[in-house]
Amino acid sequence: MNSLRQWWSLPVDYGWNVAYARSQRGLSITRVLIGIFCWLYGTAAAIALTIPGLGDGTLGRWALWFTVITTFPVGSAWLIGGWPKWQMSIAFVLYADIVLAAVLLSVDGPSEILPMAALFTVMGSYVVGFHGPKLFTAHHVFALVTTAALYVSALVDGREQRLQTNLYLIMLILVMFSAPLICHPLLMLLRRDATGAFYDPLTGMRNRRGFDAAIGNLEFRSGSDASVTAVVIDIDNFKAVNDRYGHEHGDSVIRTTATRILEAFPAPAITVRLGGEEFAVVCVDDRDSVIERSELLRIRLCDKTDRSPLTASLGVAEAVVEARDIEADINDLLSRADQAMYQAKRLGGDRVALYVDHSLPSGAVDERQ
Ligand code: GH3
Ligand code: MG
Ligand code: MG
Repeated sequence: MNSLRQWWSLPVDYGWNVAYARSQRGLSITRVLIGIFCWLYGTAAAIALTIPGLGDGTLGRWALWFTVITTFPVGSAWLIGGWPKWQMSIAFVLYADIVLAAVLLSVDGPSEILPMAALFTVMGSYVVGFHGPKLFTAHHVFALVTTAALYVSALVDGREQRLQTNLYLIMLILVMFSAPLICHPLLMLLRRDATGAFYDPLTGMRNRRGFDAAIGNLEFRSGSDASVTAVVIDIDNFKAVNDRYGHEHGDSVIRTTATRILEAFPAPAITVRLGGEEFAVVCVDDRDSVIERSELLRIRLCDKTDRSPLTASLGVAEAVVEARDIEADINDLLSRADQAMYQAKRLGGDRVALYVDHSLPSGAVDERQ
C-alpha cells in the first residue's frame, strides 16, 4: 500500500521525459513511428469499412469514417511537426482512446470486435513511455470499462460462444495490462533516479548532462530561430580560498555562488555548473538585459560581508541560434562567452566582458567594470 502511494505521488515531468529522450537522440525515431502507427490505424479502419457485416450499422460506419479521415492528418502532424507540448500530448491520448472506444462500441458484431480492444495497448505504450501515474491510471480504467461493456454485449450477442468470449477477455486482460503494470512502476523509479544524474550534488544546479538535455527543451519551447545570450562565470583566485580556508569552506563558497547565480537568472534561464568554480547561464533574452543582470550578479558575488569575499569574471556572448542546430550553436556561443570571460580575467578580473566578433572592424572584447 505504501509503495502504491509512493508510485502515485512520484513527480513526473513530461518535459523532462521528452528532453531526456531527445538528448539520447531517440525522439525523432519515436515521432516517425507514432506517425506511421496513426496511418496504420486509419488503414485498418478503411479495411474494416469494406468487410461485409463489420461496418454495416450507421453509427459504426460514421466512427470508422471519422477514424480514416482524422488519422491521416494526425499521423502527418507527428511525422512533420515537432514533439507536442504537454496539453497536446494529453489531447492526443484522449482523441485516440475515445475514437477507438467509439469504433469498438458502435461497429456491429461485438463477438468479432472484442479481440480488437487489444489496440488500447498501443496508446498504453505511449502513456507508459511519456506520462505519469495519473494518466496511466485514467487510460487503463477507460480501456477496462470499454472492454467490459464490449464483453457484456458480446455475451448477450452470442450466447452459444460464451467460452470463446471468456477466452478473449482473459487474453485481452493479459495483453492490455501485463506489460504496462510490470514496466510502469519500474520505469518511474528508474526515471526518478536518472533525474539525479542531471544535477550536480554540491549545488543542486544542472551539470553538463542536464544542461545538454535542457538545451533540447529550449528548442521545444521556442520552436524557431531565437536570439540567445550566454554568460560564463568563473570565480577569481578560487584556489587561494581553498588553500586559506580549507576545502569544506570552498565547497560552501561554490554553493553560495550557485544560489546567487540562480537568484540573478531564475528559470526559464538555463543555469549549469560546468565544473569546479565555473558556471554558465543561457537565456532567450536580449543582450542588454543580460549584461545588466550580469553586472548586478558581479556586485552581488563580491559581498564584503562574506567570510571570504571573492570576485568573479563574467563573459557574455550573444548569437542567433537556429532551432534545427541548437546544440552546436549553443556550444559555439558558450565558447565565445568563455573567451570573453578569459578576457575579463586577463584585465584583472571582477568585471563583465562582452564578446565582440573578431572579424568585425570594431575589435575584440568590450569589457566593463
Ligand atoms: P582563476 O582566477 O584563474 O580562475 O584561478 P582559480 O584559482 O580560480 O582557478 P584554478 O582553475 O586555478 O583553480 C580552481 C580550483 O578550484 C582548483 C580546485 O582545487 C578547486 N575546485 C574545483 N572543484 C572544487 C570543488 O568542488 N570544491 C572545492 N572546494 N574546490 C574545488
Ligand atoms: Mg577561477
Ligand atoms: Mg576555473
